[in-house]
Order: sequence, then structure tokens, then C-alpha cells
Amino acid sequence: MSVVKTLCPYCGVGCGLEVTVGENPTSSSLKVRGDRSHPSSQGMVCVKGATIAESLDKDRLLYPMVRDSLDQPFQQVSWDEALQRVADRIQTVVATQGPDSVCMYGSGQLQTEDYYIAQKLLRGCLGTNNFDSNSRLCMAAAATGYVQSLGADGPPCCYDDLELTDCAFIMGANPAECHPIVFNRLRKYHKQNPHVKLIVVDPRRTPTAEVADLHLAIRPGTDIDLLNGIAHLLVLWGATDADFIQNHTNDFPTYASVTQYYSPERVAETCGISIADLEQAARYWARSERVLSLWAMGVNQSSEGTAKVRTLINLHLMTGNIGKPGAGPFSLTGQPNAMGGRESGGMSHLLPGYRSVKNPQHRAEVEQFWGLPAGQVSPTVGRTAWDIITGLEQNDVGVLWIVATNPAVSLPDLERSKAALRSSPCTIYQDAYYPTETAAYAHILLPAAQWGEKTGTMTNSERMVTLCPAFQSPPGEARADWEIFAEVGRRLGFAAHFPFSDSAAVYAEFVQLTHDRPCDMSQFSHDRLRQTPLQWGHPQSPSPQRLYTDGRFLTPDGRANFAAYHSRGLAEPPDRDYPFVMTNGRLYGHWHTQTRTGRIPKITEMYPQPFLEIHPRDAQKLDIQDGDWVDVRSRRGQLRLPAKVTRSIAPGTVFAPMHWGSLWADQAEVNSVTHPEACPESLQPELKACAVQLVPIAVAAPPATLDNAHLHEYSELPLPV
Ligand code: SF4
Repeated sequence: MSVVKTLCPYCGVGCGLEVTVGENPTSSSLKVRGDRSHPSSQGMVCVKGATIAESLDKDRLLYPMVRDSLDQPFQQVSWDEALQRVADRIQTVVATQGPDSVCMYGSGQLQTEDYYIAQKLLRGCLGTNNFDSNSRLCMAAAATGYVQSLGADGPPCCYDDLELTDCAFIMGANPAECHPIVFNRLRKYHKQNPHVKLIVVDPRRTPTAEVADLHLAIRPGTDIDLLNGIAHLLVLWGATDADFIQNHTNDFPTYASVTQYYSPERVAETCGISIADLEQAARYWARSERVLSLWAMGVNQSSEGTAKVRTLINLHLMTGNIGKPGAGPFSLTGQPNAMGGRESGGMSHLLPGYRSVKNPQHRAEVEQFWGLPAGQVSPTVGRTAWDIITGLEQNDVGVLWIVATNPAVSLPDLERSKAALRSSPCTIYQDAYYPTETAAYAHILLPAAQWGEKTGTMTNSERMVTLCPAFQSPPGEARADWEIFAEVGRRLGFAAHFPFSDSAAVYAEFVQLTHDRPCDMSQFSHDRLRQTPLQWGHPQSPSPQRLYTDGRFLTPDGRANFAAYHSRGLAEPPDRDYPFVMTNGRLYGHWHTQTRTGRIPKITEMYPQPFLEIHPRDAQKLDIQDGDWVDVRSRRGQLRLPAKVTRSIAPGTVFAPMHWGSLWADQAEVNSVTHPEACPESLQPELKACAVQLVPIAVAAPPATLDNAHLHEYSELPLPV
């Protein structure tokens, strides 16, 4: 028996795990528990981490498979044949249509080593920046907001701040269900310290909101109004940090003048909250020495996501709540290695080491490091997730390579996205599992090794890098993602660029590219990480724990930038024909499109089916009873869900969980109704809100009445396992 220390491969909290492995490990013989020595999680795990071993051997893709068209069955082939097909196809497309006709769409589930080799292959060897990842759908706005306001990406806070703050301001996030261990730490501290205030901004009364001192159930799309309204009161009351503003920021007067428009009366009316609640929120900000804000996709997945992030950062800058214990703007990442993706260049506008495709010096540095001719790295920003769909529609994509993600469930305007995927002349799908919804659109399937079967690193939301060692062999013929990319690179004639014998060598090369960059990990190695997880900070930071402790930001003049925005509201507001706002989110236990969790009975039993939350007032108007089936129709598509009548959702808004693709339920894909309108700066789509109409329908055998007990059950939080 041996004990392997590793990281939970589900969410961006990044909890440490200890896996007890026998001589002949099988998923049922593995014992998983929280790693008490891990600095981020201190031994805690939620149900997902605790049951991860159960997902390892279910429905795995074992062998490479190919077919010539989507109506044919797959045929098993050797790796040699599959890889040669991939290489031949890429070579032909590059020769006939140019390198920008090759696209890769990856995932925050990839390890940093996988990400890095993919960047070297696409951006370096092929000369296209067409690598984007599902992080585009998750936290592109947060990353863009950090860069524009503070000069660099990277959350400036750490998890210890959860237990040092006087006021936690949670906006557009439901950590009790989606980041449970972060919330456990905060909630325990909140309970023990009555002076600590918890404000939750969310149109839903989530389990997080249930335990808040103040729940602001604002109308969807009014976040900027609320934030500017709080700023208005802070200015009015003189509750700003004049020294910090004077010495460390730019453009405060412009911002302050914009906030004058946001009187309490106007803001309360726009947001649908009381003036007293607005004033209470501002009072908590004003009276707290240390305010920590936490946000996730409720802020980021918006057509004004970057503006929301920057307006939230404004509050921190005007009150000096940044760069000190218990304070700062803290974006919670969704996926386990979304941060590693940002570090290694895993979005279409990035290059490794927090570099930008648009920056000529950054391109030159990367070209030089990779030993490539000047000009090899394209100055053109690559296709984002949605640009890949429009590229397919315009026949501009000759090869689409999808890795470790499930876009046939997770992309917006799903019927349109599926039609585009169906039209792809060649889709390579590299994943650990089969079937998935996306596999139906593939011509070539490549089986990938996953967590516990390959060695690599991941970075969590607090910039902590953990080594995830292999402790068992991959099933069938599955291979590590980076090995697959490297072998295709060799077959395309770039053997000299992929000499790596193992992932430690890949990591050793990658970290050199971070030297003296904001995410400097140049002193990290697999060997060092085997001893303990390591947190990165700016090269000039006295400690990596917190960034900007000296008040110097990474902008050219060292000052943070205020940003003045008026809200534009929702891209698709409700109207006479589509009078409701549909929002969506995640449930405790489930993970994204259920590729793993849908195969774990303990989790599926928690939520056997999807549902539609609707307020009793709206239900009464439409004569909808608890458990009745309802058609949810937008201008693009429709869903059919059983109603859950509950006061947890605000009138005029309905909510459905996003976990059910066509593999797990009929007509329950929330993205059937969402639209692709995106934030102009981060290009992150507004997945969180669209206008819908509700039509109750009669069905022969309605389901039993659903209970909504879980909303209360989880208000007391999942216990650490
Ligand atoms: S909170 Fe749960 S899912 Fe997220 S990393 Fe920790 S154990 Fe894994």
C-alpha cells in the first residue's frame, strides 16, 4: 500500500487529496480522503472529491477510433493509424487553407503540461493562435478585468483571507454548492465571529444567500447599477481611502463623477431592492477594515462581464481594500486548472507566461525561446469558442480538435452550435470518456489518460500549484494528452521541438518561460512540488501569498486604473413575447455536463432529474403547480422541465441547472435557449441570462411532486469528509 498526495481534479478550489493505492489498484480499492497537509483545503473535501475514484473506470474511451462520416459507426484502429490520420489531415488543411483553418478547443481539466505542449504545437509550430478553451465560457471576463484594472491577471488574494476578513461580498457566485470548501472555511469563520458580515448578491436565494447577513436579490443585469450605487454612498459619506486613491490609482475623479448619477432611489428602483438594503450594503463596506469580494460566473458570464469585474474592483480601490490580509477582489475559478491554462497561454489571445498575442515583444520572446524564426507566432488573435462555431458555419475551419470538454452541451445557442459541429469536415475528439454528447460529432476519437493516470500540475484559484502524480496505468490504450500533441508535432516534422521523455521535462521547459513574468514559477519543478504545493507571486512580491501588498500595480505607471461604466443591462431583456429571464447554474455534487458525476450513483441520487425553479406568484399566474411540466421557449430553442415552485427565485426570473445534456435527460439542455452575445472586451458569452416564455403542458404521467428540501439541507453545508 502507498499513499499518494494529489489534487482533486474537479473544481478551482483545488483541494488536496490523499489516495491510498494497493499493489493492483482498481477504482474500488482506492481510498480517497482529504490531505490535511494541503495548505488550500486543510483536509476538507466535498462529495465530488470524496467519490472521484468511482469515476475512473466507468465508460472509458479505451482505443483510438475513426470513421469517415458521422452516419457511420466507429472502427477501432491502432494509435499509429489514428495519429497519422490526424497529422495528414492537418498537413493538408495547412497547405490548402492555411494554418488558421486548424482549431483546437481545450479545457481547464487539462494539466499545465498538456496545455503547454498544445500551445507549442499550434502557436509555435503551426503558426496559428486558434487555441481556445472552455475557460472562455467561465472566467475570461475576470482575467480581462484584472489585466485592465491592475495591470496583470491573477487573483491577488489567498484562501487565508477567508478567515481574516471583516466583510465578505459574494456576487454572482454560489460557493456553498459550487466551491464548497472555500465556503466551508468562510462560513465557519463567519459563524464564530458575529462582527463579520456576509453580503450575497444573487437573484436566487441560494444556500449561500440563506446564511447571509444581507441578501440582495437584484434583477438580472443590474450588477453595475448596484456597485455604482454603493460607490455613490461611499463617496457621499466620505468613506473612501483618500491616501490610497491619491498614491496608487488613476482616474478616480471620472469614476466618482459617474457614480453621482446612481442615487439610492434610482439604484433601488433599477435593481428591485429596498433603499435600506442598499444603504446597509454600503454601510458594511464603509465600516469594515477589510472587505473580501468573491465572484464567479454570475458576474463573468455576461455581455458586460469585464465592466462588472472592473466596477467591483473600483470598490476595492476606492476603499484601499487590496494588498492586505482579509481584503481584495477574488475571482473563484470554475475548473481545476483554469489558472494553469491562463499561465500557459490557453486562450486565443494569450501566449505562455501571461503574455499577449498582440504584444510584439511577447511574441518575439516566445519565438526566441522556442527557437523559431521571427514572425512565426501570428500577431492575429485566434478564434474564441464561439468564433470556432461561426468559422465552421463559414467553412473556414478544416480541422477542429476538441480536448477534454463537451461543447455539444456547454456552448450557447446549442441547436446552432450542434449544426455547426455537424458540418465540420474533420473533428478530432480527445477525451477520457465515451460516450459523451460531443463524441457524436467526431470523426476521430483519441482516448486520453486522466487524473491519477498521468503526472502533471494544476493551479487553483489562490495560485497554488500542486503536482498530481500518476498512481495507476491508463485503461486500454489511453495516453496522456501532452504525449498525443507531441507525437502529432513529430509527425508534422517538428521532432526537434518535442524531445520530452516525461512530463517533468515538459514542466521544466514551461517554467523557464515564466521567468520574471507576473506568474513567475521559474524555480518550480516536479521534484520540488513532490515535497509540497507551491504558490506563485509576482517576482517583486515579498511573499507569494498576496499580490500588490506594496501598492504597486503591474500597469506601466504602477498605479491601478479606475473604470467608469454605466450598465447596458442584459443583451436580451425580457419583453412582451418572452417575459421571463431564464438563468442557470450548478448544483452541489454535480460537475458541469456530468461526464464524470453522471456515472456516480451517490451523486445522481442527490438530483435524479433537472427542474425549473419558478416563483409562486408567476406559477399562479400561469396556473403551474409543483411538478407540472413546462416548456421554456426562447427565440432559439426550447426546454421541457418539471416545475419547482419556490420562493428561492425572484419573480420574473426562472432557474434551471446546467448539468443535463441529451445523454442524461430529454430536452433539458439549458443552452438550447441561451444566446451567444458576448462581452466586447473578454468575448465571454452571456450564458447566465436570456429571455424566455413559459408554456405549461399536459403530459400523460406527470412526475411525482419534487421536493426542494436540498435548498435547506445544504444551507448547513456539506461536511468535510
Ligand atoms: S471543493 Fe470539492 S470539487 Fe472542489 S476541489 Fe474541493 S473536493 Fe474537489
